Amino acid sequence: MMHLRCSVSDCGTTLDLHDRALACPKCGDLLEVVIDPPPSNPADIRRRWLGRRLSNELRDTSGVWRFRELLPDVYGPHGIVTLTEGNTPIVRGQKTLSLAGLKDLSFKHLGWNPTGSFKDLGMTAGITEAKYVGAKAVACASTGNTAAALAAYAARAGMAGRVYLPAGQASANKLAQALDYGAETIQINGNFDDALNTLLASNDPDLYFLNSINPFRIEGQKTAMIEMLEQLNWQIPDYLVVPGGNLGNSSAFGKAFIELKKFGFIEKTPRIVIVQAAGANPLAQMWESGASELHAVAEPETVATAIRIGNPRSWKKSLQGVRFTNGYVLDVTDEEIGEAKDWIGRDGIGCEPASATTLAGIRKLTQAGKMEADAKVVAILTGHVLKDTDYIIKHHKEHAS
Ligand SMILES: *Cc1c(COP(=O)(O)O)cnc(C)c1O
Ligand SMILES: [Zn+2]
Repeated sequence: MMHLRCSVSDCGTTLDLHDRALACPKCGDLLEVVIDPPPSNPADIRRRWLGRRLSNELRDTSGVWRFRELLPDVYGPHGIVTLTEGNTPIVRGQKTLSLAGLKDLSFKHLGWNPTGSFKDLGMTAGITEAKYVGAKAVACASTGNTAAALAAYAARAGMAGRVYLPAGQASANKLAQALDYGAETIQINGNFDDALNTLLASNDPDLYFLNSINPFRIEGQKTAMIEMLEQLNWQIPDYLVVPGGNLGNSSAFGKAFIELKKFGFIEKTPRIVIVQAAGANPLAQMWESGASELHAVAEPETVATAIRIGNPRSWKKSLQGVRFTNGYVLDVTDEEIGEAKDWIGRDGIGCEPASATTLAGIRKLTQAGKMEADAKVVAILTGHVLKDTDYIIKHHKEHAS
């Protein structure tokens, strides 16, 4: 039976799958969904997944629910709330190869989701669970993209959405989305961490809570890695590079590889590389120093507002994946992010600033001789180019001459 479990392995606390606890009642750490072994062998299931690409059944058209054998799939065909998320392409690098110092670089563009970021992958799972447990209102704190996704999926489910944003720090485009989808927006004086603390302190029993500490969001985000491997015909890349903010996405990717290996879908995994912005780099600092605990960055500062987070909640979960895959954590400056973003644009792809940390990080690793020039690398682009248009206009004014 699928259930929730404390993500700290030596705690051992378990809860019912639909328990609404935000944290382990014993140790206070994050919870995770324990997935049952799939009903059939991996080869059969892979064929089933591929076959669903030809199906027009609603669940099959979702690039999340198509992979339901590895999800908490207790909702039936009519219980899910979907906007046909996922199904995002892998685009090969062209000019970006030379900046990266690689021969084989591809971008999996999760910004090409319904609301323009990977948050949709988690939100379809989170809102579906919220509906199942009878929630009437859902809430999150957000640097903008989670707010946009929550607002859209809440609207779809006929629920009230409430989003807490750091005042003046979320891009106008993201705020506009949340308003357009009809969410109540609450601006908090402070940064993302303050907004999250305000929401947690509100302790409103009527609100279903949808930040990435919600274990169902992690389940949805996991499917990006299954879809990626399917698109690569199950040829495993050497590296998987992902931006790190609150560290939910990297946690989800780590969980995907751990489960795919455990259930026999893959024999080896890519090495997960997490890239943070230098002004919001608590995990990179921890990694560099060899410390055993994360020290929060009190005043996170970066142009990449989606990852302007000083106290990432999912750091332990994300390190599990980095360690399991023999991965790496590093940071890059805002200047390096800006340059990498320009190159991604010149490839005709485009992304928001936070996503460009991936290419900037790859360049830094190849230059330092820590990533081989003949490695096969996939970089995750997390947000659409139109997510932060103010940044683009300002950047090009400053660099025009
Ligand atoms: C949310 C987000 C991130 C950070 O993801 P985490 O799961 O918080 O680490 C990175 N890029 C974009 C565009 C995002 O929306
Ligand atoms: Zn615990």
